[in-house]
Amino acid sequence: MKEVKEFVCITCPMGCRLSVEVEGEEILSVSGNSCKRGWEYARSEAVNPKRMLTTTVRVEGGDQPLVPVRSEVGVPKNSIMEYMDFLNAQRVQAPVVSHQVICELPGCGVKMIASTDIAAK
Ligand code: SF4
Repeated sequence: MKEVKEFVCITCPMGCRLSVEVEGEEILSVSGNSCKRGWEYARSEAVNPKRMLTTTVRVEGGDQPLVPVRSEVGVPKNSIMEYMDFLNAQRVQAPVVSHQVICELPGCGVKMIASTDIAAK
């Protein structure tokens, strides 16, 4: 069955309104995009939406109990709760330095990166 999905492109501040005609997993058409990046975003968003993941991971032996982390790229939106459960169970030993890889997410292999420094106690 054909379906039209509509999104606002978040790839740049222009915020073009995108319209994607899909049938199951097949993309039939994309319209409303002003550039190829919008076309790629629309196709991805229609069949495999991704989001940046930001949260915190527990630190052992640090002067702060948690370190903010972010995914290096977007992760599958449908798996975000599963990734949050995984990250809640993670522990990292202080010191932590900004941009340090804290862990890789199971399944997709996306790296989670520390956003700040945490000194050891
Ligand atoms: S379609 Fe292109 S110009 Fe429009 S918001 Fe997306 S990236 Fe920006």
